[in-house]
Amino acid sequence: MSAEERAASNGEASGPYYDLRVADVIEETADAKSIVLEVPPALKERFAYESGQFLTFRVEVDGHRLVRCYSLASAPGIDPAHKVTVKRVVDGRASNWMNDSVAVGDTLEVMDPNGIFVLHDRETPIVLFSGGSGITPCISILKTALARTSRPIKLVYANRDDQSIIFKDELGALLSAHPDRLEIVHRLDDVHGFVDAARVVQEVGARQDADFYICGPGPFMDVVEAGLASLGIPEQQIFIERFESPDTNEPAVSGPVDASEGQVVTVSLDGQVTEVVVAEGETILAAARRVGLEPPFACEEAYCGCCMAKVVEGEVDMLMNDGGIDQRQIDEGWILTCQGVPKGKVRIEYPD
Ligand SMILES: Cc1cc2nc3c(=O)[nH]c(=O)nc-3n(C[C@H](O)[C@H](O)[C@H](O)COP(=O)(O)OP(=O)(O)OC[C@H]3O[C@@H](n4cnc5c(N)ncnc54)[C@H](O)[C@@H]3O)c2cc1C
Repeated sequence: MSAEERAASNGEASGPYYDLRVADVIEETADAKSIVLEVPPALKERFAYESGQFLTFRVEVDGHRLVRCYSLASAPGIDPAHKVTVKRVVDGRASNWMNDSVAVGDTLEVMDPNGIFVLHDRETPIVLFSGGSGITPCISILKTALARTSRPIKLVYANRDDQSIIFKDELGALLSAHPDRLEIVHRLDDVHGFVDAARVVQEVGARQDADFYICGPGPFMDVVEAGLASLGIPEQQIFIERFESPDTNEPAVSGPVDASEGQVVTVSLDGQVTEVVVAEGETILAAARRVGLEPPFACEEAYCGCCMAKVVEGEVDMLMNDGGIDQRQIDEGWILTCQGVPKGKVRIEYPD
């Protein structure tokens, strides 16, 4: 769809973001709210999604533009509207703003759905390990698997306490509707203590041929992975959605880089134009951050699309694309800056 078509269908499209109206805000728990979005008919196709995918939002908090991903907790073809659920993070800027400031009738800037944490076409059992807000993509996958497959499903859902359980009633209703095929185990820190690898092994039981979906806080995902590893579960059966960027992305280059040591990229970001030298072995995103710019980014692994910018002059190679950007966007000149390596002199523009 061209920018003109987008503008006509959408009113105020800007770059890869579309303006969607908030149709409803639902208080799920004391620290989590769901935001239901209205997708206009002309954008239905663009916003078609698979269960487990996420939307990328661009919000303005205290004068700063922030880009954040939120998984769709709704299931396509089952739930009538796109719904994300945002849990407050202590001192988190976007999550608290989403909980405190978003109201019915507001318009949010949203990128179309993305992500590879999705239901795979298999017949083996499904075991989902979710912690806290990590339930969002898992409940979407769970609902779709119940509706569209006959696979047995087990959800192990860890929370601080009973009050923190998001979608408690919805999960209860699914359990009542599918008692033969669905098993749900709630693990509460204040009652059972933290989940450990031994407990993971116990919950897996005889389902070692299952597909395993893991989403939750870092330490929770670590113990689930350790438990599955101790059982020798092959990697092809394990799917992981990380809500945070891994800390392992050490900068490839530090300190100032002379123009003779790399390629000059002219970066337009938030109304400012900066010349950034991208060194050998560095990406455009890494170089921009090294010189003190604050471009949007999240996963840094080519799947979230947060760091997209448009190449307006020159050529950029992408090291990889794990679904963060689609062919239409590539054809329009968009790149993932976390994977972007300039071929000569380049000018890029982050979306306005
Ligand atoms: C694919 C994907 C899907 C996701 N889905 C969901 C979802 O469905 N639901 C959901 O709730 N979340 C989800 N997330 C997480 C979400 O995108 C945000 O990361 C989360 O809401 C926190 O953002 P924030 O702006 O509130 O926090 P930030 O402001 O980014 O802060 C995060 C943490 O860093 C600390 N911090 C912030 N600034 C500094 C600083 N200068 N120095 C030191 N520490 C600092 C804060 O105290 C806080 O603990 C998802 C993430 C990804 C990548």
